[in-house]
Amino acid sequence: MPLTRETPLTGLPGVGPVRGQKLEKLGLRTLGDTLDHLPQRYEDRRECCALQDAPRDRPCCVSAMVAETPRISFVRRGLTLVKVKAVDGAGTVHITFFNQDYIREVMRAGESFVFYGVVERQGNLFTMTNPVFEREGTGRTTGLIMPVYPLTAGISNNLMAGLTRRAVEECLEGLPEVLPAKIRKDHQLCQTQFARKHIHYPATFEELETVRRRLVFEELFILTCGLAQLKDRRSAGDGRLMDSSPEEFVALLPFTPTEAQRRAMEDIAADLKSGKAMNRLVQGDVGSGKTAVAAFGAWAAAKNGVQCALMAPTELLAEQHARTMDALLSPAGMRVALLTGSVKGKEKKNLLSALAEGGIDLIVGTHALFSQGVEYKDLGLVIADEQHRFGVAQRAALAEKGGAVPPHVLVMSATPIPRTLALIIYGDLDVSIMDELPPGRTPVSTLLVGEDKRQRMYGFVRRQVDEGRQVYIVCPSVEENGGAGWEDGPGMDLKAVTAYARELQERVFPDLRVGFVHGKLNAKDKEAAMSAFNRGELDVLVSTTVIEVGVDVPNASVIIIENAERFGLSQLHQLRGRVGRGKHQSWCILVTASGRETARERLKALCATNDGFQIAEEDLRLRGPGDFFGKRQHGLPQLKVADFASDMQLLKEAKQAAEELIADDPELKKSSHRLLKRKVQKLFQENAELFH
Ligand code: ADP
Ligand code: MG
Repeated sequence: MPLTRETPLTGLPGVGPVRGQKLEKLGLRTLGDTLDHLPQRYEDRRECCALQDAPRDRPCCVSAMVAETPRISFVRRGLTLVKVKAVDGAGTVHITFFNQDYIREVMRAGESFVFYGVVERQGNLFTMTNPVFEREGTGRTTGLIMPVYPLTAGISNNLMAGLTRRAVEECLEGLPEVLPAKIRKDHQLCQTQFARKHIHYPATFEELETVRRRLVFEELFILTCGLAQLKDRRSAGDGRLMDSSPEEFVALLPFTPTEAQRRAMEDIAADLKSGKAMNRLVQGDVGSGKTAVAAFGAWAAAKNGVQCALMAPTELLAEQHARTMDALLSPAGMRVALLTGSVKGKEKKNLLSALAEGGIDLIVGTHALFSQGVEYKDLGLVIADEQHRFGVAQRAALAEKGGAVPPHVLVMSATPIPRTLALIIYGDLDVSIMDELPPGRTPVSTLLVGEDKRQRMYGFVRRQVDEGRQVYIVCPSVEENGGAGWEDGPGMDLKAVTAYARELQERVFPDLRVGFVHGKLNAKDKEAAMSAFNRGELDVLVSTTVIEVGVDVPNASVIIIENAERFGLSQLHQLRGRVGRGKHQSWCILVTASGRETARERLKALCATNDGFQIAEEDLRLRGPGDFFGKRQHGLPQLKVADFASDMQLLKEAKQAAEELIADDPELKKSSHRLLKRKVQKLFQENAELFH
């Protein structure tokens, strides 16, 4: 029977039921599946040498004839040696195989083989140990660029390579092309069959580059087609018509807005009166003043008689927003309320009924805002602050609270995420960029110090406090502290918040007012410490990263970050953004005891620039997208071929092509787009929790 892409792997030579099951664990059931099981790297086995000329420092292929019957010796239990003597015309090589008894049966005197490995040489004696070998003229594991696959126990690379070879040799014919011909032509992409064959068995590394480019494009194209559809569907939805004037709102602000703030408000005002549901991201570096822009949205909603919900990632931030919004908007007659997990009992009941009856215009809170039992009278606008913590799916879920007409959605992100990631995570949003800081800010100076400078640093803190400033000291979080797997080993003295705060208060700053706040603290104590710091009643606040996002105390001029090597660069940049928010010169001091050069290099990158985007790119390059947002869900699908750090140019091309195609055929109804449609659906099903 001829092999097809549907042929099950179980039953093929070398694959019994046991291996069949193991292959299934790798997601491989049919021969066609193996086409998509891509090598993780390649080994260049093309170089062939005579024994005499073999390089000493790297493996190569040697073609030689077995000179005599191999000898086997049993060294001890579990260790046998097979010794093979082979000649290549000018020299003799003694080859040793460990624990491969069967070789005695395979290699008969007079037969020629190609051996791939390092040829060692002592005088005129050549030796090889455990080389890869195959009969001369086979060309399957030697004399080529060998694919190296992701494997699982019991499945060897040779078996895997054997399967992919059969797949590319016997079932590529008729493989349908997913990319439209015009797109392939415009972007100079090779055909699918060619790509699928040579991604496994490239003749040269240039060819590999060509086919990889096509597969990366394909993968990103399918993804961005899906995102473009998502965006298309959202924007097709009706939205409440709202009329609002940024000029009128600006009069409420205690400051003159920056141009960037004005532009963002204009964008929002235009969305609100477009008749379609708004889906906008406002992206701006820390301190660029996004809160005022959010306030404009809330104000506009109230003006138009609908409710607004503002969601923050932490209770702390929600509380701060509630205060700011109330101060700003209650003079305009707006009713602002706070709902977090710690609002309970009667208070909560009253609040919920006020919300359901329309007695509240703006409700600020955590994700509790969208939990069950929270009913809105008429939710017209949802604002999510620090959006990178919420994936596409969460956004969609909260939009559903709006009833028949979906509410407008505005998301704010202070994390300048690398442009590549932004294109994907926010691929379904319109974007306003705030690339301007309010006037009068002095850039934060960032220093890297070791333990030896600790006393000097405390002296500096004291002088700043004497001048009336306040200081943050950040430690790795309390929970994290107990965890295993510290890169720097158990000897590291990690600063735990409570103990450290006590030590500082008692021994270092007995005359200063030291407070602490961390995630494990109950809401009331947290609130108390934060607002004390806010009001200037604390000089030093020791905390975990709960102060990371959004906290705003302009009088704070120093932030010290202990064990700085524990944090990602983007996170450090966020933390740094807690200072430099007022008119005072500010400092960010990174403390590390780590002697490791890589750790220090990374931190130095942060000292060198205040540009959040540049830092984000660097972070992505160093840590990869999986780590980019820490342990939290980062909202990115798993990609097989593409690399978010290095394939950015292609992503742009693919995205543009995808958007043009979707504009032309929004539902992918054309018959030439049938396969594309299937692939988009499959990707989105596999990532159902990310896309909605
Ligand atoms: P972020 O973009 O990080 O959320 P915030 O909205 O918290 O920034 O603003 C940072 C600080 O700058 C706040 O103290 C805020 O009152 C102040 N601010 C915002 N916009 C302006 C402006 N146009 N002029 C002066 N100060 C501003
Ligand atoms: Mg903010």
